[in-house]
Amino acid sequence: MEHPAIPGYSISRPLGKGGMAVVYLATQDSSGRQVALKVMAKHLQADPSFGERFLREARICAELKHPNIVTIRDVGQHESYRYMAMEVLSGGDLKTRMKQGLPIRDSIDIVRGIAAGLDYAHKKNFIHRDIKPENILFRDDGTPVISDFGIARNTDPQSQMTKTGTVIGSPHYMSPEQAEAAQLDSRTDLYSLGVILYEMLTGRVPFKGESAISIGIKHITTPPPPLPSTVAHFQPFIDKALAKDRDERFQTGAELIEALEKAIEGFSEDNAATVVLSRNDAEQTVSTIQRNDSNHQTAVRPGKKPRAKTTSRALALWIAAGLAALALLAGSGWYFLENKSGTLQSLTSPLNAEEKQLLAQAELAAEEGRYYSPPGNNAQFYLTALMARNPHSTDAKAAITRLFSTYLTEAEQAIAGNNLRRADAFLNQGSQITFYIDDQELLAQLRHLRNEANAARY
Ligand code: ADP
Ligand code: MG
Repeated sequence: MEHPAIPGYSISRPLGKGGMAVVYLATQDSSGRQVALKVMAKHLQADPSFGERFLREARICAELKHPNIVTIRDVGQHESYRYMAMEVLSGGDLKTRMKQGLPIRDSIDIVRGIAAGLDYAHKKNFIHRDIKPENILFRDDGTPVISDFGIARNTDPQSQMTKTGTVIGSPHYMSPEQAEAAQLDSRTDLYSLGVILYEMLTGRVPFKGESAISIGIKHITTPPPPLPSTVAHFQPFIDKALAKDRDERFQTGAELIEALEKAIEGFSEDNAATVVLSRNDAEQTVSTIQRNDSNHQTAVRPGKKPRAKTTSRALALWIAAGLAALALLAGSGWYFLENKSGTLQSLTSPLNAEEKQLLAQAELAAEEGRYYSPPGNNAQFYLTALMARNPHSTDAKAAITRLFSTYLTEAEQAIAGNNLRRADAFLNQGSQITFYIDDQELLAQLRHLRNEANAARY
């Protein structure tokens, strides 16, 4: 396999591959430290929206500092490769652990850790939207860590992301509101975490089906099958975690943890029991519980009726829309929860010495006309690295906005001179950093110039 060459890193081997990137085990030459180097897939580099999404992921990772959230160490670009260096999480993923078999007490610890990470992220106004066992990785010491911060805040139907054939995410963990394409809030992540606990307790996901749509319908309408008697102790907890109506769920990660602590009181004698995930993990139809329990598939729960028995076409369409939204997010994660004015919540935070250095390099590069080339030594490179490190700095924000304005001016002049290739080059660079630009007028100007360039072409 051919590895990309990233200056400053020696790549040893691939660790994993997702919808958007390959993650390599690498050594950072300067420090000798091992890192997980996530490099954006080559075929996606050409698409600016993926580039933005990748940077957004870096930016978000850099901002979230919590023991149960993956740590980012560096972010950058070399030639056409965008990359980020993360701590190495060598303990595998939760899906693998579930297949090997997890003692219930370990499952509880994992849920507690992930809920703590979510509670922290939610307080900072991020929702993940794709909490599932593959996105939970483990450190060497066993700490569960939320990973895969690929992000698709882009809900614009024009978005390129729909066109590149991204695979759909797993519908097994999506919340009813996600299936219904409703507006999401942090409670969607807590539902997904509830599904994971259900799966850890029973060895199977609560809802299976032949298609993503049929699974989505069950999330919306059907109560989960009751827990087997061995773990029935957790039934009230699961009922609340998987309530269809999010107002009836745990409202925060902290609340979920508190309830979990209560639930495990009085469960001590059974908590060493091990649950093994169904071998048939694609369909997850069979489950094995090593406690010889047989009634959990068939029991009917009294007093809880499914919301709707028949599925209307309209409902199926709604769900299809929800799944389409999910497809945009496939293999990805954190989502900016926007505040009421529609702008990202931000606090200002001053630059440290290293960040000031980046800003100075950016300014020098811009002065010398090195806006976006040569690779690794240009204003855009330094500024996106800076934004990933310190997204709340007003200085960093002002600098990247200036660069954006420069692109617009250059593009405008190029259009006037009928040099459309040059105009396109600047407009494309501008598109790569729109995520950082809050100024709606500037953004409108980019679209306007794009139209002008296109009009001049024909
Ligand atoms: P994508 O955004 O393309 O889905 P992921 O972030 O999910 O990429 O990473 C793809 C795979 O790489 C993961 O499933 C995991 O196996 C591996 N991986 C990701 N991050 C790390 C890490 N920090 N340490 C070790 N392996 C990792
Ligand atoms: Mg992934």
